[in-house]
Amino acid sequence: MIIGSHVNYGKEGLLGCVKQAISYNANTFMFYTGAPQNSIRKAIDMQDVAKAHNLLKENNINIDTIICHAPYIINLANKAKPEAWQFSVNFLKEELKRCELLGVSYIVLHPGSCVNETRENALQNICGGLNEVIDSETKVMILLETMAGKGTEYGINTNEIKQILNNIIYKNKIGVCLDTCHLNDSGVDMSNFDIYLDEFAKEIGLDKVKCLHLNDSLNPMGSHKDRHANIGYGTIGFDTLINIAYNPRIKDVPKILETPYIEDHAPYYYEIKAILEKKFNDHLKEDVLK
Ligand SMILES: [Zn+2]
Repeated sequence: MIIGSHVNYGKEGLLGCVKQAISYNANTFMFYTGAPQNSIRKAIDMQDVAKAHNLLKENNINIDTIICHAPYIINLANKAKPEAWQFSVNFLKEELKRCELLGVSYIVLHPGSCVNETRENALQNICGGLNEVIDSETKVMILLETMAGKGTEYGINTNEIKQILNNIIYKNKIGVCLDTCHLNDSGVDMSNFDIYLDEFAKEIGLDKVKCLHLNDSLNPMGSHKDRHANIGYGTIGFDTLINIAYNPRIKDVPKILETPYIEDHAPYYYEIKAILEKKFNDHLKEDVLK
């Protein structure tokens, strides 16, 4: 299984990310190129990148499984302020360049929030923005994340994701990231994940799934909330999440934990262990804090 978690880019950039992933016994990871809430980004140190790539090789981590996540401040769906929308487009372009420098092939993107736009206009705005970002030279694939339906989010069902994909010019440069918490909160019955995969396969195609965010949810199915819970500590539950993680139809898809820290400590070493052993950890907090 290709499994890892969100890691902090921090001072050491990609090199620090690799070190954290190794400490969690992960064989992949996901990172933001800076704080997800802002646009402050520091220059990439190519010497550190070379060191990171060496460390990846030494630990048999395939760089093609590593995922970047675009910051939340990017919103391609709303164009009420054209300059703000253009800022999102430009920032996403820069993020793709940063990924290229880092040697990372995938970047997850929230499709955006409509705010006061109609869903039809939001769709046009998203596709217009993506078609401005993606050209024939683009080397990094954007992965549209399935959303919970909190507020006015776009991309909250298979049809909305399909609508975006259908309107992208360079279709082989865009994919999808499934998020188990978001799917649950959007109304998908995760205990029948194969039914969801059947629908996705029919409407879009499973080859488009390049990443899975493996999270439990604090809220019930269909709540449209988007609050992640530790593995086995939410409404989806351990057994269902294990069934999803081991589903043979998404076997080669990297699984990324975005579960909450426990009192400022990352829980990922223990959560990854529980998933690999298929054994629920009912004393996760004690383990993480010891
Ligand atoms: Zn996610």
